[in-house]
Amino acid sequence: MRATVMYGVHDVRVETVPDARIVEATDALVRVTRACICGSDLWPYNSMPASTTGNRMGHEFIGVVESTGSDVRTVKKGDLVVAPFAWSDGTCEFCQQGLQTSCLHGGWWGGTTLDGGQGEAVRVPLADGTLVALPVGPDHALMPSLLTLSDVMGTGHHAALRANVRAGKVAAVVGDGAVGLCGVIAARRLGAEQIIILGRHPDRIALARRFGATDVVSERGDAAIERVRELTGGLGAHSVLECVGHGESMRTAMGIARAGGAVGRVGVPQETTIPNAQPTFYGNVTIAGGPAPVRAYMHELMPDVLEGRIEPGLVFDRTTNIDGVPDGYRAMNDREAIKVMIEF
Ligand SMILES: [Zn+2]
Repeated sequence: MRATVMYGVHDVRVETVPDARIVEATDALVRVTRACICGSDLWPYNSMPASTTGNRMGHEFIGVVESTGSDVRTVKKGDLVVAPFAWSDGTCEFCQQGLQTSCLHGGWWGGTTLDGGQGEAVRVPLADGTLVALPVGPDHALMPSLLTLSDVMGTGHHAALRANVRAGKVAAVVGDGAVGLCGVIAARRLGAEQIIILGRHPDRIALARRFGATDVVSERGDAAIERVRELTGGLGAHSVLECVGHGESMRTAMGIARAGGAVGRVGVPQETTIPNAQPTFYGNVTIAGGPAPVRAYMHELMPDVLEGRIEPGLVFDRTTNIDGVPDGYRAMNDREAIKVMIEF
């Protein structure tokens, strides 16, 4: 089968790899119908040490179950399924509390030992705890939005929950990538009255407004903090969704949270320290967040997608086949594309 393999900085190749197959009785074999490239794939794209073996890529996918191991109960051959960006057993202490990204027996797609989503098929470990069946066919018009449940929509929702978004309050979203845009959807869905997007790209800002952003702050650094303070009566936002992970974006997020507010961070931190320790300490600002347990949110968010209340699939502004994946990475890295979908 063919799959995406990253060998180092800006070195993404589509190669023939060993066919995915069932190994454990709890596995499912899924033939991928849709996948995508993630903003977090750009971190290794710009920093991965050169490797001779390479890393299999992709952690967001929808596909059709081709076969299942003898212990799999909740999905069956022919089901269309969506996979969360981490696999999990669904039964351990952490899964039961809805924190599947900390599953005691789970893990992450791709790398050197598992299949990734940016390939023709995937061996899915712990299929019962991991996969969720979709009630529609693989060519349904809502497929792009359903695909976002594997990561970016669930991640934006997680940022909003961890930032304690409340009806009638002020939410600010740092970052206008796909996760930030889904964060706007999530903040609106949870009833925030004022939603401030911090971002600069005109196409992304337009989408943020369509999703419910009420204010746009295009300044950076201290000027951005100043502008958000102006927009919030000098107080700052109740809820800040940090959707980038850079030191600069984290510093901005900390700077715009009001006393007693919360920062929900879902951008993978690229620095080892959290900035603005003293002001946020004296302001009793809650700092929360981490990798989103999107598996926990699929059943909650899916009806909103199926019934048209939210349309996160609009974050996909480019579609390719598997041969176009390397150029898809380049396009996202060059900010030519917000998010690239791969059709198989
Ligand atoms: Zn678990």
